[in-house]
Amino acid sequence: ARTAEPLLKVENVSKSFGGIVALKDVSFDVGRGEILGLIGPNGSGKSTMINACSGIVNVSSGRIALDGQVISGLPAWDVHAAGVSRIFQNVRVWNSMAVLENVMICHPATRQARVLAGAIGTGRARADEELARDDALKALDLMGIRHLAGRRAGDLSFGQSRLVELARSIVNKPRLLLLDEPGAGLRGGLIMELAEILKQLRDQGMTILVVEHRVKLVVSMCDRIVVLNLGDKIAEGPAQGVARDPIVIDAYLGG
Ligand code: ADP
Ligand code: MG
Repeated sequence: ARTAEPLLKVENVSKSFGGIVALKDVSFDVGRGEILGLIGPNGSGKSTMINACSGIVNVSSGRIALDGQVISGLPAWDVHAAGVSRIFQNVRVWNSMAVLENVMICHPATRQARVLAGAIGTGRARADEELARDDALKALDLMGIRHLAGRRAGDLSFGQSRLVELARSIVNKPRLLLLDEPGAGLRGGLIMELAEILKQLRDQGMTILVVEHRVKLVVSMCDRIVVLNLGDKIAEGPAQGVARDPIVIDAYLGG
């Protein structure tokens, strides 16, 4: 259920890289328990916005607040600790480790060194480990891949690895999940499965900001949409209506 106060407030955010203006005075809110889709043509600033919300990119001006706490300007690690999670394109899935261990390693209760050394189940801190294991199994369950828990991560298909990455990003129970084109490279069936998984996460109370360029997919899974074009917010509203907005259609098909 949404309360009046949005979870994420993006206020007048601008970002320049040298002479390139990637975001121009962009403002929008993400309500609690909402899936907000961020769409727009290539180069419109979508990834920059996701990076700004996760602390990877510093905004040039404006501010971003999570539940009233200003997170713009904080280092990425502190933004993560505040409850913002994302899939990192370049974080490795450890191929030689089991799927379960790959998820456990991202749990705050896990001592990564032990997982990496294959020392799970030995020594002290059993309680922490049990907690991490339980949460990791739950995350795998949500992704529909609990049966793969014991498999070597390197033996998974591309689509299955994507689901492991998603399980890793939710194992710490983030308040806000940021996804930059999570369906990229996935086949049609799996994309629809992914959309269903995101809706399930939403129904369990997670708030999601997702970048996706396939309009049909966005309309099927998002509650609302914000549209960027050349760094400007050009439209915002309920998914169905925005996708039919002539201004939006023009931005996609024109120029
Ligand atoms: P999108 O994800 O919508 O395709 P981006 O946010 O990646 O768009 O990029 C928006 C604009 O900012 C583009 O013109 C891009 O070239 C530029 N840009 C993004 N990141 C950087 C960077 N690190 N350095 C310089 N320019 C960048
Ligand atoms: Mg991008």
